[in-house]
Amino acid sequence: MASSFSANAKAELCRNIPQRQCCAMAECFGILLFCNSFGADGIRIITESREFAQRLPRLFRKALGVAFDVQPDPESAGKQVFQITDPEKLHRIMDAYGFDPAGTLSLHINLAMIEDDCCKISFLRGAFLAGGSVTDPGKGYHLELTTVHQSVSREAYALMQEVLSFYPKTAVRGGGQVLYLKQSDQISDCLAYIGASVASMGIIEARLEKELNNKVNRRCNCDEANTSKVVEAAQEQLGAIRVLRERGLVEQLPAKLLQAVSARESHPEASLTELAALMEPPITKPAMNHRLKKLVQLAQEVGK
Ligand SMILES: [Zn+2]
Repeated sequence: MASSFSANAKAELCRNIPQRQCCAMAECFGILLFCNSFGADGIRIITESREFAQRLPRLFRKALGVAFDVQPDPESAGKQVFQITDPEKLHRIMDAYGFDPAGTLSLHINLAMIEDDCCKISFLRGAFLAGGSVTDPGKGYHLELTTVHQSVSREAYALMQEVLSFYPKTAVRGGGQVLYLKQSDQISDCLAYIGASVASMGIIEARLEKELNNKVNRRCNCDEANTSKVVEAAQEQLGAIRVLRERGLVEQLPAKLLQAVSARESHPEASLTELAALMEPPITKPAMNHRLKKLVQLAQEVGK
């Protein structure tokens, strides 16, 4: 099965486990706030990324010293489900992030957990791994992060502005709060920021290729349009010259027009500029145009 652009980006992010404890904590925090469910009654993380599935148990052990109560077979494919249901573990996790385990307050981004830049990066990386996706740039530009927590979405919106200097767009979809990016440069910046530099380059390359293709197409269309106009005009002029010849009028034309006739007849495909250069002495393009128009006009008059 071909892996998607999104799956590759996630695999890239999973290459190394954070070295620092603060970053491991921050990444777990991002995962928890953007995963399928995180509350006093349990944690549920569902992923299709094999690399993320391999990372989760190690990361949670390092950051929080807890193991999952439900965890898939490492070799299994498709959707993988991780769960923590043990009240003692949940209590410990809530406490570690500064939430009152018994409280009913809505979850939010505890800024003390992501004070340093290294931790902001780790937090957003966790959010992307658990609740994010990015579209193949060949199909379109779209990166999104989804959380079920309203205040988390609001705070992540501000966080993205702080670290990336642009605001994401927002939407609500099926009870989820979606933050998303549609501009290729913002998507590549965001991927580079969280550490997916290969995926980031992929976005940039796709855009350059698209721009190049557009440019080539535009030039072709433009050339074709010009060529057909030149051909049409030349045919009209040759038709006019034929009429004038049939009536024996060519020899009576003034020298300037006679020159134009012989230049056009011997160069049926030449452009105005090329014909103008053939005149003796050479003339400007508008002047050449004027001479040829005069021929067409004369033919129209005698043809009546
Ligand atoms: Zn850190």
